[in-house]
Amino acid sequence: MARDSQYDVLFEEVKIGPVTARNRFYQVPHCNGMGTHYPSAMAAMRGVKAEGGWAVICTEECDFHHTGDVTPAIEARLWSEQDIPIMARMVDNVHKHGALAGCELVYGGAAGHNKLSREVPMAPVAIPVEGFEPGQARTMDKADIANFRRWHKQAAIRARDAGFDIIYVYAAHNLCLMQHFIAQRYNQRTDEYGGSIENRVRLLREVIEDTKDAVGDTMGVAVRFAVDELLGDGSITADGDGRAVVELLADLPDLWDVNISEWENDSQTARFSEEGFQESFIGWVKETTNKPVVAVGRYTSVDRMVSLVNKGIVDFIGAARPSIADPFLPKKVEEGRIDDIRECIGCNICVSGDFMHMPMRCTQNPTKGEEWRRGWHPERIDGKASDSKVLIVGGGPTGLEAARALGQRGYEVTLAEATTELGGHLNQLEKLPGLSTWGRVRDWRVGQLHKLPNVELFMDSELGADEVHEFGFDHVAIATGSSWRRDGLGRAHRQPIPGFEESGIFTPDDVMAGAELSGPVVIYDDDHYFMGSVLAEVAVAQGHKVIYVTPATDVAHWTHNTMEQSRIQYRLMDLGVELHLAKKIACVGDEELELACTYSDNRSWLDRGSLVLVTMRNAHDALYRELSSDEPALKAAGIKSVTAIGDCLAPGLIAAAVYGGHKYARELDTDVPLDTTPFRREVVELSNDWPGAA
Ligand code: ADP
Ligand code: SF4
Repeated sequence: MARDSQYDVLFEEVKIGPVTARNRFYQVPHCNGMGTHYPSAMAAMRGVKAEGGWAVICTEECDFHHTGDVTPAIEARLWSEQDIPIMARMVDNVHKHGALAGCELVYGGAAGHNKLSREVPMAPVAIPVEGFEPGQARTMDKADIANFRRWHKQAAIRARDAGFDIIYVYAAHNLCLMQHFIAQRYNQRTDEYGGSIENRVRLLREVIEDTKDAVGDTMGVAVRFAVDELLGDGSITADGDGRAVVELLADLPDLWDVNISEWENDSQTARFSEEGFQESFIGWVKETTNKPVVAVGRYTSVDRMVSLVNKGIVDFIGAARPSIADPFLPKKVEEGRIDDIRECIGCNICVSGDFMHMPMRCTQNPTKGEEWRRGWHPERIDGKASDSKVLIVGGGPTGLEAARALGQRGYEVTLAEATTELGGHLNQLEKLPGLSTWGRVRDWRVGQLHKLPNVELFMDSELGADEVHEFGFDHVAIATGSSWRRDGLGRAHRQPIPGFEESGIFTPDDVMAGAELSGPVVIYDDDHYFMGSVLAEVAVAQGHKVIYVTPATDVAHWTHNTMEQSRIQYRLMDLGVELHLAKKIACVGDEELELACTYSDNRSWLDRGSLVLVTMRNAHDALYRELSSDEPALKAAGIKSVTAIGDCLAPGLIAAAVYGGHKYARELDTDVPLDTTPFRREVVELSNDWPGAA
């Protein structure tokens, strides 16, 4: 298929100093929880995106000196020559597919802590290290500044030796020294590096000049800069110091990569921001410089990308998450396959990998993080290994992905869905405030399924064991999902909550199905992800007084990992929701409930109308159990395997459901070892530098 000519502009070459990007699709630096801890996994993940058509592929943060160490974050590293082969593996994999490789050098300063090296962190002036951590950073003197400049220069040379084409000078996300020098609230120096904005930008200017000096003839020198910190007076703002910095340095770098700080502002979820949410902050940058500009905004609409370029807002369409959800986005645009683009839903499950120090996952792209480990490619999959016919029961995210991937393998697949709609629980979730994009998980899969002639979809078909036996498929996957418990059992309560049989108690499923609530509505959140807080918003919108109770010490505690927690807590406070933190329900009465403090013996009472218990889900595994427990019947029906997948196996994230469906499809008719690890691992190589070694 040929692409529409209106998209041609996205495939123009753009020069970044001495190097040329083949098009305008630019994967900005992004963390991934792999870094140099899982180097081949990281290299393969980046390579797949280059193969998918991105013109520039950058690293995550790359710390370059032991005094600016960002441990325990799992990132890239260029401390010495020793690290070069690791980074070179990524670069080679990116070059192999014709893309440019960029390296984002980071020096943590007061944001870094130096947990590995145990050096004392350095900052413009002495301040506590970032976060609620003990320890302080010390003031840098002139010798420290000179050292820092030299280390940065040496690192740029190492990056060049690793083969990188673009080198970053980084002053963004509130995660690095150079931003701290610019921001007044971090920099109260009285020498030529403090005071006026000309002085506060001096270090950034010097480092850009040093870098150009060292490698500028062969590498593009990019600056990643937060033009606004969303903190108002005394901070970097787009109409204050942010603009001044870009004006002062205008054409000095070869590229401006601009965003808003800190990371949770730069990577806002769809619950809190629309596509293009950064435009009002960065829209002026291009008027201030003749150098190319890249910016992000969770762009997945190709028309919007074209208009951004045509309107002169950016030269490159920057992407982290859209490139994670669909590494082949540029190729699909190029080939006129817009419908095939797997759009990011803006959930930040990918980000949670970084916060939890593990390889990232993606809700939309189950192959993310598995490119090298299991050899999963986001677009290709092995052909079928037999003529087996497969029945998938249930058309939620698990069943849809299993059917899609099996269909792609060439199997004859039948998907039976009890209701008249595909999508399972996504159909309810997408109607909740802020979650409409989550329906994309269904939409992309349904779109792909309609293109597969070997997959048949049966709606309004609730199957029981008899029907499954009758059909006589070779393999049956049960993807019948789950529903929320109504007895309060969960993390804080290993037994049902006393009084759970009272009237006026609801589950999230009831609320999503439109149950009539009466106030005051008490939401009990022992789930700690999005559901409790979203249902609080629903109840407020219905006009009720809402009381949110959780055993955790803050609202929606797990969403720290998706960088949503502070926004969620603020939203509930703003809506007037009464918060009861660190409280369990001791017992429920007909018009009140008793709370127990999670730390002490203190008890208190709350008047209640409806009580919504958000605790845990029950797998709908009755069909699976019935089928799998009757081997003779399976044999008689010619069924070789019955497998529970997704939420039917264990309810969890949508990402886990999609992954479960995909894994089932990948592994059908393959020998998956049970006694050995079924994926590649990179094991630390023992040093020869060992006392007593020959
Ligand atoms: P998952 O996240 O694992 O995909 P969901 O709860 O989203 O789980 O989806 C499960 C789907 O399975 C729902 O659409 C539901 O209607 C369907 N389903 C449940 N039981 C049956 C059954 N016996 N036959 C066919 N479909 C079923
Ligand atoms: Fe987008 Fe969610 Fe995938 Fe991250 S995990 S890339 S936010 S769909």
